[in-house]
Order: sequence, then structure tokens, then C-alpha cells
Amino acid sequence: MGLKYSRRFLALVFIVVFANFHGLNYAEKAPKYSFIQEATSAPEVSFYDYIVIGGGTAGCPLAATLSTRDAKVLVLERGGSPYTNTTKIRMENFISTLTDDSPNSISQSFISEDRVPGNRARVLGGGTVINGGFYSRAETLFLKEAGIDEALANESYEWVEKKIVYKPRAFQWQTAVRNGLLEVGVLPDNGFTFAHLNGTKTSGTLFDKNGNRHTAADLLEYANPTMIKVYLHAVVHKITFTTKDGQRPKADGVIFYDANGGRHIAYSKHESNNRSEIILSAGAIGSPQLLMLSGIGPAARLRSLGIKVVLDQPMVGREMADKPSNGLLIPYPTHIPLSLITVVGINKISNYFESFNGFDLSDLSGSGGAQPQSSNPSQEAMANSTTNQAFLVQTIFGPISKGYLELQNTNVSDNPKLRFNYFQAAVDLRRCVSGMQTIINVVNSDSLSRFRFRNMTTQDLINMTVNRAANLRPRNPNATTSLEQYCIDTVMTFWHYHGGCQIRKVVDRDYKVLGLDQLRVIDASTFSFSPGTNPQATIMMLGRSMGRRILQSRRR
Ligand code: FAD
Repeated sequence: MGLKYSRRFLALVFIVVFANFHGLNYAEKAPKYSFIQEATSAPEVSFYDYIVIGGGTAGCPLAATLSTRDAKVLVLERGGSPYTNTTKIRMENFISTLTDDSPNSISQSFISEDRVPGNRARVLGGGTVINGGFYSRAETLFLKEAGIDEALANESYEWVEKKIVYKPRAFQWQTAVRNGLLEVGVLPDNGFTFAHLNGTKTSGTLFDKNGNRHTAADLLEYANPTMIKVYLHAVVHKITFTTKDGQRPKADGVIFYDANGGRHIAYSKHESNNRSEIILSAGAIGSPQLLMLSGIGPAARLRSLGIKVVLDQPMVGREMADKPSNGLLIPYPTHIPLSLITVVGINKISNYFESFNGFDLSDLSGSGGAQPQSSNPSQEAMANSTTNQAFLVQTIFGPISKGYLELQNTNVSDNPKLRFNYFQAAVDLRRCVSGMQTIINVVNSDSLSRFRFRNMTTQDLINMTVNRAANLRPRNPNATTSLEQYCIDTVMTFWHYHGGCQIRKVVDRDYKVLGLDQLRVIDASTFSFSPGTNPQATIMMLGRSMGRRILQSRRR
């Protein structure tokens, strides 16, 4: 009896440990996170060794790592918890989350000056809570550029993968695209791998086999609960600095507001050995925006908004970039299960081919639905069911084209002005045209033939996509006949924004802000190009790697 009882007990312990380790049950996870609280419960004044602004893709692994030694860590996240409504973040709700424009939405939408709608995360876990979930590591070139040691990067990737990355199911549509890419010569077949390799592969996903999403917030399970505090709905307005005569300004505190409008200030401890720090991980848009609001940026522009200049740094907000994405909408005659990206093709000139199906893209247009102006009603009828369609898309390495981010006002909750200048560089446009030719070949491949309406040509698909692409750009009359014009007119975001606080321009190779003390930026804003085919793997790896490097320097 005793033996029977203890076996049952052991089995129960095993199930609980296993479920927690794999993050199988969100409902059970929440109580464990007793260190995650509403900012309304924060003291008016507090002191920490490390203050991480933004509990996103980089911020969560960074803070979890920093908390594992003798340091007290604070994370300030403007959004709420991803665990309160886990249905909302399931795969099938990918688009509906992005189109939720309510004030408490976990996605904040914007329209860039390029007239392309985009989204930024507003939730603990950041972009990993609202994104497509596709997980793929970066090319080695990126590690050199980012100054990250390869062994440390590999260990950090594994640390992330062990917790939140899954081998995807073989979705019908993804398998067809995979075969199509191989058929048209995006070779070799690299099977299933996280590595960035030329050819076609299946890679990881944040969705488990039940379609539940796992996120960077789950990486906080690695944290030492006694050394970390995470405040939700904690909107950081400003970083404060001490500026003693003749010395460089030193970041020493963070002013944030809770959901009731209560003001709080958290100070970094600034012990005699100066090991305390403030780390900005507010994302590609949030980090340059907050630097500027704190007085670090182009002096004349800051002064014109009444912001006291701490450091004239014209490169903050410069060279913002976003990978352009273009593709073809492919309506199919029968229902097939929806899928987000699990397959990618990488060709020799670094076009990246990916696809998803079963979603209505027109909802993303930013105009309450694009207005198709079809010249051929019968084809329009064939494409009637907007979810019986796939989008086969290509993005490009880089990109080389750069834009900027500028403050429009001093309200941190408003979007700054953003321009990405898609295709300003001729090489980006050439890559797009070449990638579109490959997409047309894939659509015409045998592998995809059974998913096509027989009498619908690729020219029909081009015409349809010109009408439905999710942007607000004008359509040139030759957009359906010139692939250059097609790329320019139908460009969409793939949400891979980066730049604005780049290495060597705004931060050094330790991610410390140039010209200041005790302040780093660690997130996608530091990139000069978007790593890999999709960046989230590398952003989480960066958070973990930098956490380890900072702890090492703390020990010295
Ligand atoms: P974030 O993860 O955005 O983190 C920034 C955090 O800071 C956020 O949580 C934000 O709320 C918080 N914050 C900002 N300002 C403040 C403030 N003032 N006070 C307090 N907190 C603040 N990548 C992939 O690899 N695969 C994909 O399939 C994929 N699909 C995508 C689909 C969508 C719709 C989107 C939006 C992105 C996608 N990406 C994908 C890109 C990837 O998710 C992002 O590049 C990445 O998450 C950005 O990480 P980050 O740490 O730089 O910023």
C-alpha cells in the first residue's frame, strides 16, 4: 500500500515537474510567478542593481539571467501578462490580435510614413507574444557584427530552445511549399534544423503541438524569484542622469507610472564600484524613443519639444530599417488547416521564402480592410473565402535601405514618426524582383498545383495581390506588369524593425551607450541588419548572452 502510494505520489511530482518544465499549462504557471506584480503595488522609491526597461524578447532572458547571482533586478514592462488570456495568443488568433486596436490591446499598431501598417508589442514577453512564432538562428556573420562569442551564442540559443521552442507539426500547406521550393531549386534540402543554411529547411516554432504559444516571458522561469521583481503596466517615461562637473552623465534612475497614474522612481544602486546599471530593452521603436525622451538624441529636435538635452547624439533614431516583404496571395479551392511559418527557403542571393495560410490578410491593411477593385468578378468570386488562401512571401537580407525615427511629441505612449524608405537602395529592389520570380515559379510548381484554381493564372494572382496587399500605398497602373513597381506598391512589413541605436553609432560593442555611464541598450534597435531569416531567436540569445557577460564583468 505504502509503495503504491509513494509511486502515485512520485508520478504526480513527475507530471507537475514535467508540465512546468515544458510550460504545458499556463494556468498553473501564474502562481509560481509571484515576483510578477502590477506596478500599482510598487513603492514610490526603490533601489536595484539592474533596472531592465521592457520585459520583451531581449528583456526577459536578460533579466532572468542577471537575477541568478547576488544582484537585485527590476523589470518594468508597460503591458500586462501574457498568461491572462492564453486563447488570444494561440496560433489561430494571430491576425485578430494584431487588428485589436483597443487601449489594452497587447499589440500597438502604427502606420509608417511609407504608408505601411505595422505593430509593436505591449505585453510581458514582447514580440514573442504576438509574432508568427517562427524560430531560426542567425548567420555567423551576425555574431561577428554583434561582437558575440560563438560558443556563448550557441549555449544561449540552447538555453532558450530547451524551454520554449518546438519542432513543428507537418502542416499540409507548409509541406507543399517546402516541396515547391525544392522543386524550383532552392537547394539543398536541409531537413529540420535551427541553423541558417542556404537551401530549404523546416525550423522551430514557439507553438507546441496543441497550438499553444510559448513566449520569452516563460524564460523568467529561469530567474531567481528572490532577486527579481517584474512590474506590469509600468510605463517608463524617462531615464534620469546625474551630471557632475566635467564628468560624463551617469544614468541613475527610471521614472515610471502605474495603471492608476501613480508616479514611481527606481534608482540603480551605484555602489562605489559602479556595477549597477540601467538597461534599455524597449525594442526597436521603444528604445530610441525613450533615449530621446530622456534627453539623448539630436539636440535641436529635442529642444524644439522642450526636452532638456543630456547628450547631443544625432545617431539615435537614425538608420531605422525594416525588411520589406512581398509575395502572392493564393486562393485555394478546398479548406486546409491553417498554419503559420514553419518552413523557409534561403537562396544564394539571400532571399528568404516563407508562407502562411488560412488568415485574412486584408484585415491588416490599416484601412479597415483593403478595397479590392477587381476587374474580373468571376475570379473575385473564386477567391471569395478570404481565409481559404495562402500568402507565399519573400523577404530579403538586410535591408540596405534605411530610414529614421523621430519624436512627434513627448508622450511615450504615442508612436513616434517612422520611415523605413523601403527599396530606396537599388540592390533591395533587385533582390525583391528576383525573389518574386522564384515565388512565381513555386506557385507554378507541381507541388502546389493541387492547391490552385485551375483557371487562375499567376497574372491573376498578381492582379489580386495588387488589390489586396495590406498597405495604404498608391497603386501605379503598371504595378501588375512590372515586378519593380509591384514590389514598391505591394510592400508590407514582416515586422523585423531594427536600427535606431546601432552598435558603433549609439552603443559600443558591450552595448553601452557611447558618451554616458551606467546605461546599455540590448534589443533589436542595436542591429545594423536583421539577423537570420527571422530575428527572435537571436534577440533572445542576445539577452541571455549579454546577461552572462554583464555578470562576468560584475565578478571582476
Ligand atoms: P520587444 O519584444 O517588442 O520588447 C520590447 C518591450 O518593451 C515590449 O514588451 C514593450 O511593451 C516594452 N516597452 C516599450 N516601451 C516601454 C516603456 N516606455 N516602458 C515600459 N516598457 C516598454 N520574429 C521571428 O523570429 N519569427 C516570427 O515569426 C516573427 N513574426 C513576427 C510577427 C509580428 C506580428 C511581429 C510584431 C514581429 C514578428 N517577429 C518575428 C519579429 C520579432 O518578434 C521581433 O523582432 C522581436 O520580438 C523584437 O524584440 P525586442 O526585444 O527588440 O522588442
